[in-house]
Amino acid sequence: MGASNIKAPAIVILGNGALATAKRIQQMYPDALIHGLAERVEGADRSYAEFGATLRLLYQQDTPIIALCAAGIVIRTLASVLLEKGAEPPVLAVAEDGSAVVPLLGGLGGVNVMAREIAAGLNTAAAITTSGELRFGTCLLNPPSGYALGDLELGKRFVSDLLSGESVRIEGSAPWLAQAQLPEDDRAQLAIHVGYAEREPSANELLIYPRNVLVAVDASIANVADVVRAALHDSRIASQSLACLLASETDMANPALHAAATDLGVSVRFTSQASAIDMAQQVLPQLLPPISPVDGVAIAVAPGPLDIDRIGRARGRLAVVGLGPGATAFMIPAVKTELARANDVLGYETYVRMAGPFRADQVLHCTDNREEMQRARHAFELAAQGRSVVVVSSGDPGVFAMAAAVLEALHDSDNAHWHAVDLEILPGVSASLATAAQAGAPLGHDFCLMSLSDNLKPWGLIEKRLDLAGQADLALAFYNPISRSRPWQLGRALEIVRQHRGPQTPVTLGRDIGRPGQTLRVTTLGDLTPEQVDMRTMVLIGSSTTCVFDRADGRQWVYTPRWYGEKPEK
Ligand code: SAH
Repeated sequence: MGASNIKAPAIVILGNGALATAKRIQQMYPDALIHGLAERVEGADRSYAEFGATLRLLYQQDTPIIALCAAGIVIRTLASVLLEKGAEPPVLAVAEDGSAVVPLLGGLGGVNVMAREIAAGLNTAAAITTSGELRFGTCLLNPPSGYALGDLELGKRFVSDLLSGESVRIEGSAPWLAQAQLPEDDRAQLAIHVGYAEREPSANELLIYPRNVLVAVDASIANVADVVRAALHDSRIASQSLACLLASETDMANPALHAAATDLGVSVRFTSQASAIDMAQQVLPQLLPPISPVDGVAIAVAPGPLDIDRIGRARGRLAVVGLGPGATAFMIPAVKTELARANDVLGYETYVRMAGPFRADQVLHCTDNREEMQRARHAFELAAQGRSVVVVSSGDPGVFAMAAAVLEALHDSDNAHWHAVDLEILPGVSASLATAAQAGAPLGHDFCLMSLSDNLKPWGLIEKRLDLAGQADLALAFYNPISRSRPWQLGRALEIVRQHRGPQTPVTLGRDIGRPGQTLRVTTLGDLTPEQVDMRTMVLIGSSTTCVFDRADGRQWVYTPRWYGEKPEK
């Protein structure tokens, strides 16, 4: 596995006093973002409202955490989620002034390595408490990337045997152990064995497998995963040494192939060749000829761990994501994860900025709001090169936004590379729902979402729909209600609605909901004028049953009951 698969850490601080130390740590991990408590910290890369929820989310997303606060706070905060996970990310507490570095969790995820790195950068010592690590200077159960540990439980026993005073032999090539202080002895009972050959696990051996084997497959064979396992076994090669699968570009979207890769726990890379032998030869020409124990499968063994990022190319990915109305707390976690893995981010500049901050290696392509089809095609061109591309929309990408444009571009295209892209649409909280939630439940019964923009549809159709929705007594949510180039349309729309609804009908106006300076206003259809509305406003018009009552804080709740006609008995 290449270094790109290790997530950048999050540096979490609670006050400005920790900012200087946080910035020093950030210099050691340039991809790390500083998360600061909103209203307390100025100059952080991201701000968060709630410490506990933020820390738990980072932990659940496998993000290494460097928290600049008391170790106890971190422990108490993560306590409730600790039992959920097998593997966990490194979690460290660092004293605000940089005087102490305490690795807390993630021994197998390399927390002690990080603690040492950070401590060295801060000119202090790491508080390492792991016995094996202290004695041998390395965690034997956490081999470097490119190597896989055979069995964790056997491994723990092996390390405790070593700690009790036994000596050890090293078989095979383990360059990272050169610096370790191991009690080596050529006649030792215990052995650390590094190699790709299949081997029976035993209590006397710590098995470590280099991930140096590549299997090229013709994806049209049945049961790819089983065939690959059997082929490796027949060749006496350990499946733990499998670094990746290799397949033909024509199989890029083949679901059975991807299921097999998931089953085998490896990624798939692609080449232009068609036969398994040719594929393997194309990506690893310097090696001995690959072996083909069965038809449709070829095995190539490299002298050391494979850097899979350099083998053939990846299947490109394109995610069309919704950022929600604005505040990051309203962005779904899957979108955050997608933004973190993006190579390229495309969108209207305001939204791209809203989705940030980004790392220096991420390429931003900001365009004007009106160039949607061009942006969609550009996204496919990038993704078809094997890149991971994100197109951002505010709210939900499927609501008057980029998802339909992206699908239209794909539908219009006969480029097989575009169709092979791993395309996914990730939802977001749409402006109407975010506004409704703040007002209460004005969309609590049947409702209708409309864009009042007549840029891409005839105004006559909008009038007809308004009239029918009015007749049907649907609550209404207006997107794009007004703009400089569309000054009269909202007034005309309200005329039509007023033919069906009384002047007392509750109206909710949400402006910049979820963004700085947001406003929420409850008025009535009778009092509503187009001057109260601009292009950053969401207009929610009630149905005949929508009602309003006072809140204890002096504002008002708006809701549309779930029932019609007679109020049902409780
Ligand atoms: N995809 C977006 C909508 C894009 S259309 C979504 O699902 O929310 C743009 C319109 O959405 C704007 O003219 C405005 O009416 C509304 N809108 C978008 N964000 C908003 C916000 N934060 N507050 C209020 N209205 C918003």
